[in-house]
Amino acid sequence: MSYRSWFQCINRNCRATYRLNEIIYRCRSCGSLLEVQHDMNALARRDAPGWMKLFEERMRSNRWPYGSGIWGKKEWVLPEIHDDNIVSLFEGGTNLFWAERFGKMLGLKDLWIKLCGNTHSGSFKDLGMTVLVSQVKQMISEGAPIKAVACASTGDTSAALAVYCAAAGIQSIVLLPKGKISTAQLIQPIANGSLVLSLDTDFDGCMKVVQEITKDETIYLANSMNSLRVEGQKTVGIEIVQQFDWEVPDWIIIPGGNLGNVSALGGGLLMLRDLGLIKRLPRIVVAQAERANPLYRAYLRNFESFEAMQAQKTLASAIQIGNPVSYEKAVRTLREFNGIVEQATEEELSDAAALGDRTGMFNCPHTGVALAALIKLVKRQVIDPAQRVVVISTAHGLKFTEFKVRYHEQAMEFPSQYANKPIDLPPRVEAVKEALEQALRREAQAKV
Ligand SMILES: *Cc1c(COP(=O)(O)O)cnc(C)c1O
Ligand SMILES: [Zn+2]
Repeated sequence: MSYRSWFQCINRNCRATYRLNEIIYRCRSCGSLLEVQHDMNALARRDAPGWMKLFEERMRSNRWPYGSGIWGKKEWVLPEIHDDNIVSLFEGGTNLFWAERFGKMLGLKDLWIKLCGNTHSGSFKDLGMTVLVSQVKQMISEGAPIKAVACASTGDTSAALAVYCAAAGIQSIVLLPKGKISTAQLIQPIANGSLVLSLDTDFDGCMKVVQEITKDETIYLANSMNSLRVEGQKTVGIEIVQQFDWEVPDWIIIPGGNLGNVSALGGGLLMLRDLGLIKRLPRIVVAQAERANPLYRAYLRNFESFEAMQAQKTLASAIQIGNPVSYEKAVRTLREFNGIVEQATEEELSDAAALGDRTGMFNCPHTGVALAALIKLVKRQVIDPAQRVVVISTAHGLKFTEFKVRYHEQAMEFPSQYANKPIDLPPRVEAVKEALEQALRREAQAKV
C-alpha cells in the first residue's frame, strides 16, 4: 500500500501544493502558511478497526520506529520517509492519568491530565521535532545543501531541536530571548551542542531574525510555521482518544502561545473523524496568559479582527507571544470544535499550578494557565460536572523550578495562597517533635 503526503497552502483561494522535500515555509504565490495534506482515499482503504488494531499493536513497543508515539502513526504523519532517516527518541506515548483529587475539588468526576512533559526533552515540542529533523535528515541524504537547522524559541522548542539534531549529528542553532527562559531550558541546548545565540529581545524579536537567516537554503527553519512540526504534534489528540479506547472526551483544554499546538490537536482529531475512527468531536479550549492574550482578545471580537500585541512578561514564559504565527489555523480549529478561549492572570495560573501540585501533579506554569481556565469554566457552568475533561499539560514541572521556588518562598508580586515553606530547625529530636506536633495539628484543623 503506498500512501502519499505533500504541503498545501491553507488559503482556500490558492491551495498551491509543494513537495515535502522542498525547502519552503510559506506559499510562494500568496504567502500563507502551508499544511501537510494526506492522500485520504488511500488511507481510507484500511478500515477504522484496522487502523485501531495497528496503532494498538505498535503503542510503546520496541519496534523501530513504531514504538514512538509519533512513528506508530507513521502512515498518517509522514508516510514516505525511509525508516533509516527517522530520528526518534521514542517520544510521545505519555501517560494520561485520572486527576481524581483535583477533579473532586471542582466537583468533576472525570478529569484527566495528558502529561506531555513526560517525553524525551520534557515538553510536547518533541512530537513535532522528531518529524522535522527526520525530514531534514532525509533531504540531506538526497543531497539538499542544508548545513544547520535553526529556531527562535521561548525555551522548549530549542531544547527539542538541540536534542534531536544531536541524535542525528546535524548542527542546530537556537535564538533565545536573553533572560526570558528558565535555567533548565537554557542548559538543554547548551548541553546538546547547539550554537546558542542569546538576543536582547523577546520571542517575537528572535522570530524576525531567524526568518531572515533562514532565507538562505543552507539553514533550515524549525519553528512551527514549518508545518512538519504540526504534523507530529497532531498525534497528541489521536493518542488521547486511543488511550480512552477510542472514546472521545467532551473537552480538551490546551495552553496556547504561537498556536501551532492547538491547530495540530484539531488536525489529528479531524483525521480520526474523517477516517471513521470516531463519530463526534470534543470541544477545545485554548488557555492564554492575560499578559499575552492576542487570541483571547480576538475571541471577544468573534474573530472578526486580529491585532498583534506586545506580550508582557509572564511566568508562563513559553507562551509569552504577542504575534502568534498560527493564528489563522487556530481560528479555523476553534470554529470547527465549537471552541472557547479563556485567560488567566499571573496569580490565577500560579495558584492553579500549586493547587494541582498539592493533589499529586508537578505543573509547569503553562499547565497552570490551562488549569486556571478549567476552574473558571467549571465555575461559570460552561463545563458540566458529569463531562469528561482532558487538560493537556505541555511541559514537565522540573523545567520550571525557579517559578515554583519563588511561589513557595512567597516572593511573587501577589500572595501565594498555597505556599509551603520549609521549617528551619536545630538538629534536636525534641525540637523536631514539637514542630511536627504543631504542624500536624494545623493540618488537621485546616481539613475540618
Ligand atoms: C510551546 C509551548 C506552548 C505553546 O504552544 P504553541 O504551539 O506555541 O501554542 C505551551 N506550553 C509549553 C510548555 C510550550 O513549550
Ligand atoms: Zn497560497
